[in-house]
Amino acid sequence: MQVKRIRDLIKEGQIPVIDAEKGFTICDLTAGYLRDSDDGFTTDSVYGFDGRLNIRPSYQRNSVYSQDKRDAVMMTVLEECPLNTIYFVDKEDGTYEVLDGQQRILSICKYVAGEFAVASDVFPTDLPQDFYNLQANMRDIAQKILDYELEVYVCRGTPSEKLRWFHRINICGEPLNEQELRNSSYTGKWLSDAKARFSSKGGRGVRLADENPNNGASEPLLNGSWNRQEYLETALLWAARHEGHEGKGAIEQYMLDHFADSDASGLWQYFSTVIEWVRGKFTDYNKALKGIDWGLVYERYQNGDLSGNIISKGANEISDRIKELIEDDEVTAKMKGIYLYIIYGEEKYLQIRQFDEKTAKIVYEKQNHQCPYCLKNGITKQYAFKEMQADHIMPWSKGGKTVEANCQMLCNYHNSSKGNAW
Ligand SMILES: [Zn+2]
Repeated sequence: MQVKRIRDLIKEGQIPVIDAEKGFTICDLTAGYLRDSDDGFTTDSVYGFDGRLNIRPSYQRNSVYSQDKRDAVMMTVLEECPLNTIYFVDKEDGTYEVLDGQQRILSICKYVAGEFAVASDVFPTDLPQDFYNLQANMRDIAQKILDYELEVYVCRGTPSEKLRWFHRINICGEPLNEQELRNSSYTGKWLSDAKARFSSKGGRGVRLADENPNNGASEPLLNGSWNRQEYLETALLWAARHEGHEGKGAIEQYMLDHFADSDASGLWQYFSTVIEWVRGKFTDYNKALKGIDWGLVYERYQNGDLSGNIISKGANEISDRIKELIEDDEVTAKMKGIYLYIIYGEEKYLQIRQFDEKTAKIVYEKQNHQCPYCLKNGITKQYAFKEMQADHIMPWSKGGKTVEANCQMLCNYHNSSKGNAW
């Protein structure tokens, strides 16, 4: 990994600027910046440095800088104080991307483009001034702004080297999240294609995740937001797992394996297979379906881990069973629990109704404080109420209800061993 001051690269003749003596100035930065070229949203659409600097590359977050912060940047420049270090990524084709400093750069560009005015002690008046006014009436101040040298570091390296470096500098400003950081390192056709599918409004992956293709309704299955790269992150996590990568570093490994591919069709195929499988299993939507790790569920299903569970049945049977569970008074779980039960088959997810204390005490007295299983083993010990648990004689799964006639008090030992041993 190579991180160099732009001033040194300019001196070495590696980066041509207007005046090499002055270093990288606001004049260089703002050259070719077009007024209103930034809708604050679209990436890869805002350029400076004569088209050589991508100010809002696709991995950057779209965020609005407050007016106060914007003004503060220009006041710093006007008072000739230093701004924090800015980082560029060298694309090694004569162009650069802003890694850190996007908002500061945009503040400067917008000011020089005449988009806003600021007040400053360096002006002879208290009135806010825009750049056109300075050029017309305070030319020396306008020139000072254009000559202001920016402290820029330029990074160049392999994707994994860059990623490590980005983590290190990602502490000030508006930090990128994990997936935004990964995207900054594994750029190329593959990433562009992946982002077109998973990180843009109307992308195929975004639509598949958000809309039920059966009815066109908004029925989202993923947590997070595509704009923060969270859909892409989920798609990558699932695909990584499918290729045998687990845990921390799985997504990086997948990206490393694929970022040189010509497109992201493999990522898309696996993602769409998983989502279509989910849509095919659950025809009635509830928002509790959102955010379940469907990639993991699908893998386990494919491995046969879930065979015999309700999830292995057809959509109609699943739908009928869900309706029964919703109507079952004994089931107190919310929809999420019902879905987990459908998938994993474990009764704990249903939160079957428990006996209330009143019923438990009545049965405790009837049993003379003894445990029926202990009695079968010749143990006549009397337990304190606290030492016993209320249990369904006939379990819920066999139709047993939470009523006094179906209640027995068991000692802790037999209560906990009943599940397996009895
Ligand atoms: Zn017992």
